[in-house]
Amino acid sequence: MGAHISIPMYERTVGQRLAFEGERCAECGTIAFPPKGACPDCRNTEFETVDLSGDGTIYSYTVLSPGGAPPEFAGQARAEGRYVVAIVELDEGPRITAQVTDVDPESVDIGMPVTGQIRRIYEEEGVVRYGFKFVPTSD
Ligand SMILES: [Zn+2]
Repeated sequence: MGAHISIPMYERTVGQRLAFEGERCAECGTIAFPPKGACPDCRNTEFETVDLSGDGTIYSYTVLSPGGAPPEFAGQARAEGRYVVAIVELDEGPRITAQVTDVDPESVDIGMPVTGQIRRIYEEEGVVRYGFKFVPTSD
């Protein structure tokens, strides 16, 4: 017996709640985020929905720069184009890849606490798509 939720219905639910909503495997307790429809650990497809804090730490990261500016333009490239993509380990365990914004790429480090934000990306055929990004945790 499993709850079969169609993907479009699921995505509408995410859109309404605007929260980091994950799935906890009913079999082994692994939390999946974003929900994948099957447990990444044991492939079970029964879940309960859990609200995640959205808080986590940087597990690894890469600084990307469009075009590879020569050194004399590095400052400008940093101001205008460099961005950080990180694997963030959420407090609840799942790791997700997302952009880290509102941060100087030079100051990003492994283990840095970050907070997730969800924003609307676009709507297609009535289904709103959301993306996540992370900002440094302010305390
Ligand atoms: Zn499982």
